[in-house]
Amino acid sequence: MIEVVEPATAEVMATVREAGVEETDAAVAAAKAAFPAWRAIAPADRSRLLHRVADAVEEHHDELATLEARNAGKPIGDARGEMGMVAETFRYYAGAVERLLGDTIPVAGGVDFTFREPLGVVGLIVPWNFPLTIASWKMAPALAAGNTLVLKPAELTPLTALRFAEIALEAGVPEGVVNVVAGPGRVCGQRLVEHPDVAKIAFTGSTEVGRRIAESAAPTIKRVTLELGGKSANVVFADADLAAAAQAAPLAVFGNAGQDCCARSRILVERRALDEFMSYLEAAVRGVRVGDPLDESTQMGPLISEDQRATVASFVPDDAPVAIRGEAPDGPGFWFPPTVLAPVSNDDRAAREEIFGPVAAVIPFDSEEHAVRLANETIYGLSGSVWTRNGARALRVARAIETGVISINSNTSVRVSTPFGGFKQSGVGRELGPHALEHYTELKNVYYATEE
Ligand code: NAD
Repeated sequence: MIEVVEPATAEVMATVREAGVEETDAAVAAAKAAFPAWRAIAPADRSRLLHRVADAVEEHHDELATLEARNAGKPIGDARGEMGMVAETFRYYAGAVERLLGDTIPVAGGVDFTFREPLGVVGLIVPWNFPLTIASWKMAPALAAGNTLVLKPAELTPLTALRFAEIALEAGVPEGVVNVVAGPGRVCGQRLVEHPDVAKIAFTGSTEVGRRIAESAAPTIKRVTLELGGKSANVVFADADLAAAAQAAPLAVFGNAGQDCCARSRILVERRALDEFMSYLEAAVRGVRVGDPLDESTQMGPLISEDQRATVASFVPDDAPVAIRGEAPDGPGFWFPPTVLAPVSNDDRAAREEIFGPVAAVIPFDSEEHAVRLANETIYGLSGSVWTRNGARALRVARAIETGVISINSNTSVRVSTPFGGFKQSGVGRELGPHALEHYTELKNVYYATEE
C-alpha cells in the first residue's frame, strides 16, 4: 500500500494500493484493447463525451478541490482555480476534436492530402505540484486526438487522478480509455517508457528524470514530450511601475509554496532602482498569508514533504544573505517561510539550481544587455517576465530571453488556449493551445493518382 500523507499535518490521509509492473501491463493492455473503438467514434460524439467530462469535473468541483488542497498542501482557493482549469481544458479540447484538419497540397498527376492520425496508447507521467491540472493538459488533447491513455500520477499525490478516472467513467468515457496506475516512478513509470505497446510518453517532472526517460525511450523510438524544470527570471527595469512589480513578485515565487516550474525565482532588478524595489518587496512578502490550506484566506501552504523541506533549507545556510523572511506556522506539517536572498550573484547555487521552494534570489543588473545575459545564463528556459514602461524595450527583451513563455508587466504563464513549454533543458514540445494536438498525432500524407 502507498500511505498518502497530508503535508499540512504530516498525517496519513489515505492508503492506496500500489501498482507494479503487472498492473501497468494490464493498464496498457486495456488501453490497447479500447483504442480501435475510441478512435472510430464519430468526432461529434467524442467531442460530446469530452464536454461531459468537463461537466462532471464541474459537478465534482468542490470535492476534487478539497482532495487536491489536502493532498498537495495547496491553498483551497488555488485548488479551486486549478479544478476550474481542468474543466476548461477538457472543454477546449472537446472543441478541437472536429478541427483536427489536414492540408491539401498541389502536386502533379493527382491529389495529395494529409491526415492527423492518433498514436494509439499514450503514457502520461506527472509530478505532485499540480497533480490533476498537469494530467488534464495531457489527457484532454490525447483523448481529443483519438488516443487511449495510461496515467501515472506521482506517488505523493495519486488521489485526484484516481477519483478523476471514476468520474470520467461515470460521465460515459468507455472502459479502458482512461487508465490510472498509482505506483513508483522507477517501476510503473519506467515500464510505461519501455513498453512496446506505448506509442508516446508525455512527461512533466524534473530535468534529471526527463533525461532518463529520453534515454529509456530510445530503444523503441518512442515519441517523447518533456516539461521539465525552470529557473526563470523576473526582470525589473528602473522605468517600470516598481510598486506593481514588487507587489506581484512574491506570489510569482511563493505561489504553490514555490513548487512551481514557472516560479520566477531569480528577480533581476536594475541596480539604480534596487533600494526602492526592495522596500516595496519587503512589504509585499510580509503580506503573504502562510497557513492552513483549507483556510480561505491562505495564500501559501506547506511544502509537499519533509524531504522537500530539507532540500529547500539547504539553499538557505546560516551565512545566506537573507534580506526578507516571512512567517510560517510551527508544529506539524512541512512549513518553510517565504525567504528573499539579496543581493545574490547569478553564479551562486541559489541562482543556478531550481529550489522548488519559497526562496527568491534578487540579482542586480546595470544595463539591458546585462539583464538579458544574466537571464540567459542558465540551463533552463521555461518562463519569465519583463517589467518596464518602455514598449520597445519590453519587446526587445522578451524576444532576446531564451524561454518558452514570457509575460510583459505580468507574471502569468499558463492559459488553456496558448502554448506552454520550455527552451533548452526545460523541455521538448508544447502543451495547451492548438499546438499540443500535434504531439498526440502522427502526420500522414496520402497521394491519390487521378490520371488515367
Ligand atoms: P520527478 O521528476 O521526481 O517525478 C515526476 C514523475 O516521474 C513522478 O510521477 C515520478 O514517479 C515519475 N518518475 C520518477 N522516476 C521515473 C523513471 N525512472 N521513469 C519514469 N517515471 C519516473 O519530479 P517531481 O519531484 O514529482 O516534480 C518536480 C519537478 O517537476 C520539478 O523539477 C519541476 O520543475 C518539474 N515540473 C515541471 C513542469 C513543467 O511544465 N515544465 C510543471 C511542473 C513540475
